[in-house]
Amino acid sequence: MFSLTEAQTLLKSGEISSRELVSACLERISALDGTIHAFLHVDAERALKQAEKADKRRKSKESDLPSLLGIPLAVKDVLTVEGMPCTCGSKILEGYLPPFTATVVKKLQAAGAIVIGKTNTDEFAMGSSTENSAYGVTRNPWDIDRVPGGSSGGSAAAVAAGFVPAALGTDTGGSVRQPASFCGVTGLKPTYGRASRYGLVAYGSSLDCVGAFGQSAADVAAVFSIYNGRDPLDATTQDVPAAQISLETEAGSSLKGIRIGVPKEYFIAGIQPEVEEKVRAAIQKMSDLGAEIREVSLPHTEYALPVYYLIAPAEASANLARFDGVRYGPRVSGETMWDVFTKTRGEKFGDEVTRRIMLGTYALSAGYYDAFYGQAQKARTLIKRDFEQAFREVDAVACPVAPTTAFKIGAHGDDPLAMYLEDVFTLPANLAGVPGLAFPVGFDAAGLPVGMQLMGKHFNEATLFRLARAYQQATEWHMMKPTMDGGR
Ligand code: GLN
Repeated sequence: MFSLTEAQTLLKSGEISSRELVSACLERISALDGTIHAFLHVDAERALKQAEKADKRRKSKESDLPSLLGIPLAVKDVLTVEGMPCTCGSKILEGYLPPFTATVVKKLQAAGAIVIGKTNTDEFAMGSSTENSAYGVTRNPWDIDRVPGGSSGGSAAAVAAGFVPAALGTDTGGSVRQPASFCGVTGLKPTYGRASRYGLVAYGSSLDCVGAFGQSAADVAAVFSIYNGRDPLDATTQDVPAAQISLETEAGSSLKGIRIGVPKEYFIAGIQPEVEEKVRAAIQKMSDLGAEIREVSLPHTEYALPVYYLIAPAEASANLARFDGVRYGPRVSGETMWDVFTKTRGEKFGDEVTRRIMLGTYALSAGYYDAFYGQAQKARTLIKRDFEQAFREVDAVACPVAPTTAFKIGAHGDDPLAMYLEDVFTLPANLAGVPGLAFPVGFDAAGLPVGMQLMGKHFNEATLFRLARAYQQATEWHMMKPTMDGGR
């Protein structure tokens, strides 16, 4: 399967048509997605029709063809696409057909992209493995006994398996970067407020970001350049010029003049030795390419996990109040209105979502608010200040994405805390609102991809892309593909 940038070139030169490209994706999905289960919904007919239209348009000799014309994409099932169901991986939205399309998707469609289907996710994006989906787990294309990461595991697996050249995900605490790392693909969490959340079903409103997956930094940059920017329908999008990142034209790969900080708090006991080894080797490679490497300190890192697991559930408890069996999705009947609410919510929400709603409601309740939510917000400010301090000295921070490579399905069984620990290295970026980019830097002894994360200054995704691009021009980890023969 072609990468996004390859597909762009081949479509432009006329070597392939969009119809051929979309058909190849659909064939691969029907051959292999029975095993991987990356998709919750695929609309082959609609995709093929749009592909034909794209081909016609390309032949029309129109001068300024949009950059993604005829390129198939997948969208995580927490973003709305008119005409396609939106379940958020939950039974409470089973059969819900949203009447509108998320701004980010609209922008991609306006640039010619074709949404081929919706991908699996942990219920309401709560999780780190895609095991919390009410519609079954997604499997990691590198080893089908392992999780793809989460919560955007469907999108990450779809790109890794070669079902689509790129996909959208969302990242509230790591849900693009961690599955990108587990599946050996490149994934971006942009700056908070960089891209519209209109049409994204809210989880943690002060943390949620729409991100993208592709094979390489160039692929992800091509998608991000289209969907980012201010949206009058989302007041939290910032009024800054939209990022237009073109890595294709960037000549040479010297990193001279770029300072990379290595935070000592991210190389802690308990991290899988091969993860540390590969990430350190990648940092060395960037040094060989001309970057200056320095140690930095993000002293409040240890508070990120407790702070996140107060703030995210608190916001989730408020956001999920709207799912009551009246406005969206199915309804469980009852004697009274309250009966309908409690029965619908009690039966249709899964265990993890219920746990978060209870935790969040408790943390926000009168008498506890100051002790929990108020304190968490103060600690959040300290975490944000750590980054501001570090970014006075360096242009980017380099560290692992997750402490381990992909774990076995069921490994964290009934232990939510063990699952939460998977996010220690990704949560801080969401709390601080800074961008993060994950990409593969090697494999462990079991043949599983190891990912590295770069975090940058607010609104400076460009530096992260430049670093990853230079690294990817000098290495081949991002080109490796799983054999998909059931093993590795
Ligand atoms: N794993 C984290 C959580 O469960 C992050 C999820 C996300 O980024 N959507 O909340």
